[in-house]
Parts: sequence; structure tokens; C-alpha cells
Amino acid sequence: MEWRSAGGIRWLEAELPGARAAFSTRLGGASSSPFESLNLGILTEDDRDAVVENRHRLAASLGLAPERIAIGRQVHGAELKTHEARQEPSPFSEPGGDIPEVDGHVTSEPSLPLLVFVADCLPVAMAGPGGIAMLHCGWRGLAAGIVKRGAEAVAATSAAIGPGIGPCCYEVGEDVRTAFADLGDVFPAEGMLDLAGVARLLLEDAGVTEIEAAELCTSCNTELFFSHRRDAARTGRQAGLVWRNGEA
Ligand SMILES: [Zn+2]
Repeated sequence: MEWRSAGGIRWLEAELPGARAAFSTRLGGASSSPFESLNLGILTEDDRDAVVENRHRLAASLGLAPERIAIGRQVHGAELKTHEARQEPSPFSEPGGDIPEVDGHVTSEPSLPLLVFVADCLPVAMAGPGGIAMLHCGWRGLAAGIVKRGAEAVAATSAAIGPGIGPCCYEVGEDVRTAFADLGDVFPAEGMLDLAGVARLLLEDAGVTEIEAAELCTSCNTELFFSHRRDAARTGRQAGLVWRNGEA
């Protein structure tokens, strides 16, 4: 994974077979505190026009057409939406209309970038012979099987795990510990969960052999990332995106 920047926007970029993934930071946007500055989430108390401006800035920096970027209303589930055409009207570039309630997106079509919003949850991008997938992975979605579903949908061979809350900062309760008790060593310390470690083990279980991870904690890295937990829910959203090479 490599740091990239353009037009004041800074992101992490990963190469997948036939595709690229990007994980945005909070840098280079138009929003003011506590959404400073590249807040991409409309379901915050941020100014709508600033969010739309931020979305367009990010798309421009990545060389993507904003009206072709597919999104959903995320509900911490394991449902996937398969996209065969662009969403119209575009909920990314002109928010306000109906959007599907899903936490994962899949496509095998050209020119359809997929995006999830995050602020501690993990953005997980995948690619394989069946296409590309972008997943919003909190503990509930991971426990509900979203990784396996996404991997099966695209016959994933490779994945990139973006920044999320790290094992240093993610204290969880008994319900969460129980959900992953059979998975292996994902509890680095008493009461703490390694969410990216969970995602990695689930990816391996699903047959994904090439996995890279940002290994950056959203809560620790205040200058770079929004963190729902650190900022007591009043914060912005960064994003994870995946798209096929040579298409915009
Ligand atoms: Zn941390």
C-alpha cells in the first residue's frame, strides 16, 4: 500500500489484480471542525454542500467520475448489492434520493467504482476473476459473514484492508468477544479486539491468499482519520473505494 496525493487530497492506494483500491484521509476537504476537512458522510451534522464538494474533490483526485461511484446506506449487516449499471440519480454526487441499505458492493462491470464510508470500521476491498467488491466491516458485519459473501461473489484472490480502529484502541464487551471466540488469536490484550486480525482470518478462511493491510489506527491517528469512538460519534467519514484499472 502506498501513500498518494493530488490536489491537496491524500490517500492510501493498493494494487489488486486488474483493479485499484483507495482509502481516503480527512485531509484536503472543505468542511470545518469537527468534520475538518474531507468529510464524505452526508448522514452527519456537516453542511451538505461541503460534503458534496468533498466527494467531488476526492473523485477528481482519483481520476474517477463522481456520478458513477456506487454507494449504499450502511446498516452493519452482511447484505451485498451487485451493480450492473450506475445508480441514477447518483446518490454519491447528488445525495438525497433513495439508496440501497447494504454494507457491501460487488460489480464485474467496467466503469463502476464502489465506495463504503467508514470511521473506525474497516473498509475491505477485494478482487478476483468474478469482479471487485468493497465491504464496510464493523464487528457485526464480520460476525454476520460479509467477508465470506463478498469473497464468494467475486471469487476473490486478493484483498486490501484499509485503516480502522486498531487493537490499541478497540475495547469490546463480552458479546463481541463471544462472536469471535472460535476464530483464533484476535484478542491482543484483555478486553481488546484486533478487528483487522479478524478480517484477515476471515479472508484466509474464504480462500483469499494475497492480503495487505494499512495497519493504521483511526483512533490514534487524529490528524489523518475520523474516528467515531474517539470523537464520541460527532465526526466525519472517510472512504474505501475499489475500481477496475484503466476505467473512470
Ligand atoms: Zn489506536
